[in-house]
Amino acid sequence: MLILVHYGEIALKGKNRKFFENMLVENIKKAFKRINLDLKVKKVNSQLLLKIEKEEKERDKIILILKNIPGIYDFSFVKKIERKKNSSDKKVLEELRKKIIEELKEKYKDKETLTFSIITKRSDKSFTIKSPEVNSYIGEELYNNNFKIDIKNSKIKIYIRILKDEILYYYEKYYGMKGLPLKQGKVLCLLSGGIDSSVAPYYIIRRGVKVDFLHFHTFKENSLVLNTKIKSIIKIFNKYQFESKLYLIPYHEYQLSTFNKIPERYDLVVFKNFMLKIAEKIALEKGYDAIITGDNLGQVASQTLENIRSTSFNIRHTILRPLIGFDKEEIIKKAKEINSYKYAIEDYKDCCSIISKKPHTRVKVEKIKEIIEKIDYKKLIEDNYKLLEEYTIKEYEY
Ligand code: ATP
Ligand code: MG
Repeated sequence: MLILVHYGEIALKGKNRKFFENMLVENIKKAFKRINLDLKVKKVNSQLLLKIEKEEKERDKIILILKNIPGIYDFSFVKKIERKKNSSDKKVLEELRKKIIEELKEKYKDKETLTFSIITKRSDKSFTIKSPEVNSYIGEELYNNNFKIDIKNSKIKIYIRILKDEILYYYEKYYGMKGLPLKQGKVLCLLSGGIDSSVAPYYIIRRGVKVDFLHFHTFKENSLVLNTKIKSIIKIFNKYQFESKLYLIPYHEYQLSTFNKIPERYDLVVFKNFMLKIAEKIALEKGYDAIITGDNLGQVASQTLENIRSTSFNIRHTILRPLIGFDKEEIIKKAKEINSYKYAIEDYKDCCSIISKKPHTRVKVEKIKEIIEKIDYKKLIEDNYKLLEEYTIKEYEY
């Protein structure tokens, strides 16, 4: 089985191109290894040719894998005609034409209702017959065999790629997730288990950045979180990035030490500032380039512009909010698409939901500053940091 992979954006990246290519190849190999499929990868003119020694029955699995590798633009199952040293270009083309006509006759018995076109790309310029000539040479024979040609709006496209050692041809393209290959840098995601933070990592991973997770929970012990939807959501992201770290901290310590010290309406914003503060500390100690959250603007009480500013009070590390401009329905659509939705909506006792029923919607930074200065914030951070435990999650789900 032969698969042609296009990687779009990385072809543009100048000197880094080789590096990006190698990363993509490595990731493809890793993803296939996970389901015990061996493959060989050959680089051909800014494309990859994958050779897999397995029968057709693995096709659906392979489609799923390739659709979920960051950096792949599109891919196709292809067939090839070899360009042997001693055979002329004309002869090779003749062979190609014969094959295509035979296959199309077999494949499209109801061809009366369909229209066809040919798209040739001559990547190897040593092939003496130019693309338009290839198109008309094959088109003519299609016409002779009663296939309807429609150059602009055809139902079926016949793609032909002329390479140095072979000519590839195929009829169908699958789109990948695009973006850039992993991994270039890493970020720490504040994961709540809700819908938003179960989508935000997708947009960062797609840019080739590895995401690890930090979660504050209401259980007595960290390890209990491993039986919850938090782990299920991380498994969803492991289909793109193989494995993730999960940092866990129980909420009870914070709850006890701040009891009666924070006016209720400010509690949520202070807690969010506290979570970011801990995230920043982890980021600095473990080398994360940024912190990400599932915040989106003005959606609920705590996510007004003022509150976002206040929750970020005194955080100097970069915070990325990939969903900031999204509408809820767009987020839900994406959550369904990547399969995190079914877990995100499961019942779960989240800390934020037990904090404040009526949070202040316009908390001033000065107010947060004032509240924080009254409690021993430094000690609070340090005490909680001691409760941090780190797990590595390798399981994945498509
Ligand atoms: P989500 O759907 O991600 O829960 P939300 O719209 O419910 O978001 P909030 O609950 O206010 O909004 O949370 C905003 C962001 O704060 C979350 O997207 C997440 O990044 C972070 N966050 C909230 N609760 C937690 C938590 N318990 N542990 C870690 N991060 C959290
Ligand atoms: Mg939430």
